[in-house]
Amino acid sequence: MLGGVPVYDCDICGRSTPIAYVVEIEGARMSLCEKCAKGKAPLQVLGEEKMRPVNRHAPAAGPEEKEMVQDYGKRIRSAREAMGMPAKVLAERINEKESTLIRVENQRMLPDETLRKKLEKELGIKLMEQVQKGKSGPAQHGSEPVSLWDAAVKKEKKQ
Ligand SMILES: [Zn+2]
Repeated sequence: MLGGVPVYDCDICGRSTPIAYVVEIEGARMSLCEKCAKGKAPLQVLGEEKMRPVNRHAPAAGPEEKEMVQDYGKRIRSAREAMGMPAKVLAERINEKESTLIRVENQRMLPDETLRKKLEKELGIKLMEQVQKGKSGPAQHGSEPVSLWDAAVKKEKKQ
């Protein structure tokens, strides 16, 4: 161990590595260096928090994740009323039953994708919005990053 940074020995090549990738090979768990772990899906990555305390943005999802606005019914109705269009007329224009449209406006029914697109196009509104990820809950970018490793070490010292 150097300066408190954990160092692991690769179980394949024996090289010391600050980040070990725990992979399962033929039922045995091995911690490997980056080179040896290449192409394998790690079960766990050891030492990563220590090496990369920041810049760990959640992958996946991406900016394309959208969901229906919560007040879709209100938006549809106010857009329709702003255009001075009776529900019946709008329903005819988008080739839907008036009762269906009313139910959507009352938010008793979620429009499917086809209906949503027709409404958006007809009324010139947007019924989908970007999902705001990570807005709820405490921010992880505190001034004192505590990794699992740190927590474990502190716990050990207390005992
Ligand atoms: Zn290796």
